[in-house]
Order: sequence, then C-alpha cells, then structure tokens
Amino acid sequence: MLESIQKIAVLYDASQAVLSTFDLDGVLNEILSIIRDYFQLHNGTVLLMDKDKQEVYVRKQFGRSEENIGYRIPLGQGIIGAAAKLKRPVYAPDVSKDQRYINRVQETKSEVAIPLMVRDEVVGVLDFQSDQLDYFDSGMIDLLTLFSTQASIALENARLYQLERRRAEQLEAINAVARQTTAVTDLDELLTVVCRLILEWFRVDHVAVLLSEADCMRVRAYEGRLTPKVAMGAQLAPGAGLAARALALGKSIIENDVSKVEGYIAGFVETQAEMCVPLIFFGEKLGTLALDSASKNVFESEDIQPLESVADICAAAIQNANHFERIRQLAYVDGLTGIHNRRYFEMRILEELERASRFGGRMSVIMMDIDHFKRLNDEFGHLLGDEVLRGVSTILKHQLRKMDMVCRYGGEEFAVVVPETFGENALTVAEKLRRQVEIYNFPGVPRPVTISCGVADYPIHGNSRDEVVAAADAALYVAKLSGRNRVVAATLKKETSATQG
Ligand code: GH3
Ligand code: MG
Ligand code: MG
Repeated sequence: MLESIQKIAVLYDASQAVLSTFDLDGVLNEILSIIRDYFQLHNGTVLLMDKDKQEVYVRKQFGRSEENIGYRIPLGQGIIGAAAKLKRPVYAPDVSKDQRYINRVQETKSEVAIPLMVRDEVVGVLDFQSDQLDYFDSGMIDLLTLFSTQASIALENARLYQLERRRAEQLEAINAVARQTTAVTDLDELLTVVCRLILEWFRVDHVAVLLSEADCMRVRAYEGRLTPKVAMGAQLAPGAGLAARALALGKSIIENDVSKVEGYIAGFVETQAEMCVPLIFFGEKLGTLALDSASKNVFESEDIQPLESVADICAAAIQNANHFERIRQLAYVDGLTGIHNRRYFEMRILEELERASRFGGRMSVIMMDIDHFKRLNDEFGHLLGDEVLRGVSTILKHQLRKMDMVCRYGGEEFAVVVPETFGENALTVAEKLRRQVEIYNFPGVPRPVTISCGVADYPIHGNSRDEVVAAADAALYVAKLSGRNRVVAATLKKETSATQG
C-alpha cells in the first residue's frame, strides 16, 4: 500500500494535473490517467450529474467497453446511484451480497463509488470495479476520496469555463442579430436573415419562423438541412403544434425528445428535439421561432435566455417591417376614398400590359369622370361632394372582379383596368358601372349622379400605357361632348384625332 508521504505526492501531482486545463475532455482524460497510473486501477468511470433529470450519466471511462458512454443511472439506484444520493463513498466489498447492486458486469466482485462534490452539491461520481472480492481497502478509498475533491474542482472549473465561453458566443450572436436586422425593412428578407443567423450561432439543424394570422399560424421562413414536412407558406390548424402552444403560453418550450410528446406535429422528417420561442412585441403575440434538431437532448434551459433576447430583437424588427410595409402601401392609396391612387395605377397598368403582351392577350382601360361635379359641389357643398366621391369609389370597387383594378385618377376622375377583357365585353363592363352609379341614391343629393366613360383596348387603340390611356381619355371627351352619362369606345388613332380636331 502507499505510504503517507507517497499519498501526499500523489495528491499534489494529481491536483496539478487535473487543474492544468480548462477543457472538459482534458480534465476527464487527466482524471482517468491518474487513476490508471498513480492508483494503478484497472478501470475507472467518470459519471456526470444531470440536475434536471436527477440522474448521473457515464461521460468517460477506461478499462471498460465504450458502449457504456451515455448510460444513465437515477439517483439512489445501484452502488453509483447510492453514492450520488447519499453524498458519500459507497463500497460494496462483495457485490453479490449488496442489495443495492444492479448486476451489469458479470466479472465484478467488488465496487466502490465516490461522489464528486462541489460544496454541498454532487456534480458526478467516480466508479471503480474489481474482479476480486474486497479489492479496495480503506486507505485506498480515503485517497480516492481525497483525489475526488481535486477532480470535482477541476470539473467545475471546466464547466464554468465552458458556460462562460458559451455566454460570450451567445452575446455575440444577439449582437449579430441586432446589427443585421435593424436595417431590413422587407419582411421576407428579414425572416430569412434571422433564420440564417440563428442557424449559424446556435447549434441547431433547422430554424423556422411562424407568424400568427387571425387564429392560426403560417410558416413564413425556414433555413436548415432537415427535410420539411410542411410547405413554406403553409397554414397550420388553429392551436396545432408546439409553436402555437409556446405562443399561447407566451413562454419558451423545450422538448428534448419529441417522440414522447403526445400529438406532436412534426415540421421536419428528422426532428428529434424542438425548441419554440414566442415572438412577442409589447404584449402583441406575433409568432414563434421554432428550432429543430435531429438529435435528442440538445436543448438546455440555459439556451432559453439568449434565444429570448434574439426573439425580442426579431419581434421588434418584424413590427418595424410591418410598419414600413403599411407605409409603403399607404403611398399607393388615395386618402379620401381608400381605393388606389394614380401612382398605383401607373405602376400596375405597366405590369398588366406586359403580361398581356407576353401572352398575346388583350385588355381594356376605362377612363371615367363624374358629370357636372363642379355644379354638385357648388350646390351641396364640398363635404357632400367628398361623400359622393367615396360612394362612387365603393360602387366601382364592388362591381368589379378581384383581378380588375380601379383607382382615383384625379379629382373626380377614375381609371379602371380590366385584364383579359376587350371589345364588346369591356363596353358592357363600363355600361354596367355607369348604370350602377346612375341608379344609386346618394344621400343628400336629390337627383342622379352620373358618369361618362371612355373605353380603349390594348393593343387595338394603343401599344403603350400612354397611348391606351390617351385613347380612352379621347373617348371620354367624346362622351362628354355628346351629352354625358354615356359610354364611348375609342376609335382607331387617326379617326380619334380627326374627331378632336
Ligand atoms: P364635366 O361634366 O364636364 O366633367 O363637369 P365637371 O364640373 O365635373 O368638371 P370640372 O373639371 O369643371 O370640375 C371638376 C370639379 O371637381 C372641380 C373640383 O372642385 C371638384 N373636385 C376635385 N376634387 C375634389 C374633391 O376631392 N372633393 C370635392 N368635393 N370636389 C372635388
Ligand atoms: Mg367631371
Ligand atoms: Mg374632370
């Protein structure tokens, strides 16, 4: 047996060795080599504590088959579990006579388990087994126990170091998200950037953003290597899935083994674990960040805080993008009537003309103008005039199809684009609009309000936006000249100018 002076030397060397590194695997290697070289034991196992689960698990060992790595033992179970629970070394000189022993290894005759303690907390267990009865004497157990205190400190240092390093990384991640999202005003682009950054900084396999819409959620962005089961843009059933649950609770959820989640709806084929973080901006529930992993047990409660910080930044950026989009939309909306304005018309008509020309299609433009509107204003006042403008807008909007486009072109002038409609059909549409305005009883106006319309076809009456609009305008002018409250079709270019001349 070792002499006491030798014991001190062993301990001194051991503490120097295990404390010489901050890297967890380095510390574990040192612990095992000391057990082998100084204590000359034939095997040794280091188990670490999983506080959440109240289990210890095999982290590293020598002298045993590697297949034990990851093996979990609940506190109180077996010799190892007993040491972790009792917070003191447990020795079974003859395992066959120890009721706590769980028969895992045939050859084992005696076993000693020593808890690794930091202050009053168990952080792990050192375990040694022998194929001889009563192999460990009390001197050896004492020395191993003394050594275990050095090993515990080294393990704790490594854990703290790892934690610090991870925190620093996460802070950097939060910073990156903040820096790279504030300037992005396009929502889709923003969501993609967010997914990419999370994927880059947090150890996950896939990131998705789901946004709330009415009572359900829609997949708005995802990035990663997993195989999606739910298509981009898909709407999820109300309340379905972890994402909806996290949002409803207003709290992050970690599921480290989705196979154990009742009624789990998988977003990806390979998902084993999922973490959902709600996106909340000033109490408004905007959506959820969903992080998926193809491995179990990857998410830790320590991940919640940094990801919630990321989520807060995202939520603010999403709100920004939403506001920006609303303002952008407002630039195309007429303030008085709420229908689109001339700027929108000029942009959209170009798109429609291009589509028509690409498919060899035809389409029409209807220009219209309220008859004697000045007189109406003079007689009933400007406010009532405004009411009439709103009323006419509403009638036009309701009478047209979804694909048609109506806008307020100027004061009391409106422009309509009817894609894939031309000739007689376009005239019929215009006539219907004219008629609906004529028969409507505008409150406060004791006589019919009427409109005049000019209709021009693309490409018959013009080859470009300006040409078609000019042709419809010329026809409108003819309608006014020939008595108002009527629809006039454009004539071919030369004839129209002849009429005007
Ligand atoms: P016509 O049948 O030839 O079109 O005669 P009109 O009186 O409708 O045409 P004119 O162009 O002479 O007058 C248009 C009037 O529309 C003048 C203007 O005060 C009025 N107007 C333009 N914008 C608005 C508006 O936003 N609100 C109100 N109340 N009136 C408007
Ligand atoms: Mg008018
Ligand atoms: Mg006018």
